[in-house]
Amino acid sequence: MTAEERPAGPEAAPSHPAPQDSAHRAARRDAAVRAAATQGLIDPDRPVVGLLDVAGIRAAARELRAAFAEVSSPRTDVLHAFAVKACSLVPVLRLLAAEGLGCEVASPGELALARAAGVPAARTVLDSPAKTVAELRDALAQGIAVNIDNPQELERVDALVRAAPSAAALPPLGLRVNPQVGGGTIEALSTATATSKFGVALADPGARAWVVRAFLDRPWLTRLHAHVGSQGCPLSLMAEGVRQTYELAEEINAAAGGRRVESVDLGGGLPVDFSTDTDTPTFAAYARVLRDAAPGLFDGRYGLVTEFGRALLAKQGLILARVEYTKSAGGRPIAVTHAGAQLATRTVFAPASWPLRVAAYDAEGLPRTGPEVEQDVAGPCCFAGDLVAVKRPLPLFRPGDLAAVLDTGAYYFSHHFAYNSLPRPAVHGFTVDGATGAVRFALVRPAQDIEEIVEESGAAQRDALTGMVREERS
Ligand SMILES: *Cc1c(COP(=O)(O)O)cnc(C)c1O
Repeated sequence: MTAEERPAGPEAAPSHPAPQDSAHRAARRDAAVRAAATQGLIDPDRPVVGLLDVAGIRAAARELRAAFAEVSSPRTDVLHAFAVKACSLVPVLRLLAAEGLGCEVASPGELALARAAGVPAARTVLDSPAKTVAELRDALAQGIAVNIDNPQELERVDALVRAAPSAAALPPLGLRVNPQVGGGTIEALSTATATSKFGVALADPGARAWVVRAFLDRPWLTRLHAHVGSQGCPLSLMAEGVRQTYELAEEINAAAGGRRVESVDLGGGLPVDFSTDTDTPTFAAYARVLRDAAPGLFDGRYGLVTEFGRALLAKQGLILARVEYTKSAGGRPIAVTHAGAQLATRTVFAPASWPLRVAAYDAEGLPRTGPEVEQDVAGPCCFAGDLVAVKRPLPLFRPGDLAAVLDTGAYYFSHHFAYNSLPRPAVHGFTVDGATGAVRFALVRPAQDIEEIVEESGAAQRDALTGMVREERS
């Protein structure tokens, strides 16, 4: 086990690791692709897999903890809750928990995954714009922190709190606000626009006064939450959202004459650079920007929660797909691979917002060399737009080669889209021995088999519809 791989309990004091070295990251990736080919993780019958860099995940978690430890007073209680939607795989949640992270969940399914990973209720935060009464009741009973989204939900929680055996047993309950600081370059991922569906829109007429009143009336409402993101938002915009949330906390506490707001949930949303192997911006840079924008938030008076997803996992994963055929159309070479819209869904449907790098390897998993030729990298789905890359300069692919779609550890292979009834691929974690270069794999999720797809698609209800037609006729 290398030093990098050694597990650290949640209690281990974060050191000050350097940002992940891009050369090491690329070297680990090359070693993993080579081993996936030689160890038979990918072959003609299993033409696509997801790979996760275990050392990379651990390092990202440590960088996050170190970044906030550096800017916060030692008295500050910080919970880093991983946004489960970014990589909804139980072993990943468990690995992050071993590195001291909790979970941010937004559905009963995500909550069940966090529980399956052994993440304690006290390190779990429930956010969702559409929580049912049953979900809220369950969260309160289990001691899971809840961020309330809107006035109607607050009324539901009021009723549950009235019915609770004791106020002391309640988990932290917060209110999500939308500072309406504006959006980034990707409309669909901009949560703090004037008309965003999330939280209480602070600048709307009467909203701020309503929020302050809501806290003054409820001693159990102790947390403010804002998630100003995500990909495509500049740090200054996110910092402005956090600053305004802090100002609101101060205003509420001044009005309450005490410490009503005890903690602030800063959300996630740190963008990822999908064009290189480096982490830009780093957690450390973002933490400093936040500290400079709202120093009072870090002086020990407030507990902090973060909810990062993409920035923790994106660069730790890749999709590896076999090139089934190569062809040419209209003079342009096309590599037909097994990675398309079913895995790189956002990239295929919104290529301008979600460009991904593709790396070319030969059938033995060695980097393909040779002059770069503009080519399309296509997926297996039956629609013309199923392209992961268009006119991409790469060494010319050959049948049997491996195409690696990089930075897909968040929101990609854990987010299968069932188009063409294509199966979910297996996901393997890997480690690379620093001394020997030996690669070890661990299965994180088995590939879906065809029987499962048939079952999910109503096989047990085979005669449901033909039976109805017969009844009508009789
Ligand atoms: C999606 C989401 C996150 C994580 O966002 P990233 O961009 O992946 O960091 C955090 N908090 C909330 C409320 C979210 O909806």
